[in-house]
Amino acid sequence: MSDLWVGDNLSDVKVKNRSLVLRLLKKKGPLSRIDLARITGLTQPTITNIVNDLLSANLLQEVGVSDTKAGRKPILLSMNDQAFYIIAINFTRRGFSVALCDLGPTILFRRDSSYSLLENTEIALLELQKEFIHVLEYATQSLRLILGIGISVPGPVDADSCTILAHPTFLKHRSLDLRFYLREYDLPIFMMPDADAACLHETWSGEAREAQNMVYFMVGEGVGAGILIDGKIYRGHHRQGGEIGHTSINLFGPRCVCGNYGCLESYCSIPNVLKKAQEATWFAESSYLKDISSQRGIEFHHLLEGAKMGDSTSLQILNQLGQYIGVGVVNLINLYDPEMVIIGGEAALAQEFIAGTVDQVLEERLLYREYINPRLRYSRWGRDVALLGAASIVLDHFIAGELGRF
Ligand SMILES: [Zn+2]
Repeated sequence: MSDLWVGDNLSDVKVKNRSLVLRLLKKKGPLSRIDLARITGLTQPTITNIVNDLLSANLLQEVGVSDTKAGRKPILLSMNDQAFYIIAINFTRRGFSVALCDLGPTILFRRDSSYSLLENTEIALLELQKEFIHVLEYATQSLRLILGIGISVPGPVDADSCTILAHPTFLKHRSLDLRFYLREYDLPIFMMPDADAACLHETWSGEAREAQNMVYFMVGEGVGAGILIDGKIYRGHHRQGGEIGHTSINLFGPRCVCGNYGCLESYCSIPNVLKKAQEATWFAESSYLKDISSQRGIEFHHLLEGAKMGDSTSLQILNQLGQYIGVGVVNLINLYDPEMVIIGGEAALAQEFIAGTVDQVLEERLLYREYINPRLRYSRWGRDVALLGAASIVLDHFIAGELGRF
């Protein structure tokens, strides 16, 4: 049933207010009790009660005093990130990672595997089970403090049944219910597409803590978007939206695995950029990349190193990447009119080489450029954003008071 028609009991109000205080401290902390009362509009005695409850539950900590000049200096509070732990799992097309995180979320311990679901589903699943137990063993002293498992996936998912849906670029032959492989200790499992998880992470710990309408444009192995509308991740009616990578930007472009032609992903996903770099070395007389490609395959960090050394082929490829990303950002802004766009995924590591080009594309092509001025940011979380995003899914449910822990 839609929660539109569900009322609040007094106990719900209690949880809601605690949730509000935790959310505020997580996003804007440290804050004093006076700050909390002022921002929430709750009375000082109510805030005192909530804070006392959360302090005795070890969920808050006092972290010094405010540097106000006159009078008694108020004590500052922040959320205790070590109160609980989260297991984060991120699948990529090339493998997966399992990590133990605190509520930062910060990665405390991780296991990375190069077995991919795409190439070797059965072995990858056995490895997943093994690495998951390995992480649980590491966390053995704190098992009862683990809130749940967050999973981010570069493809379509059915979050309700913890199932990765079959998809030609990630999981070819069948959909996959992960509960069987992660059944130890019966922890709750939450799942999201990686761009959504990364988007969520930016709202908890990154550039978008205060954003209500934001687009996270993820350009990595694949290209997709996490869309935040009125403070909530928007996925669409069938929960399969946000697929900006599969919007066509060229009617006569190459056929994509999805069946469409000239998909944005075919031009700016990192594997496609590297393919272009490889091809460019065939024609380049001499290039840093030519040497690399003759020794081993070109990887994205080679392009960045080349660009840093002034290698013209590397600079040219990155400039082109900037153009395609710019076009993607223009399309996203024209569609959603967000207050902020965050460019993330591996491409964000090339910020210094692409930012000028992206800005220029926006200046030339954005529809209402005279009237709107969305902030453009580059994610600072590098390759780990989707793993941290997986942890943020659980953090999000925890702070909403849905895990019954406060
Ligand atoms: Zn496509």
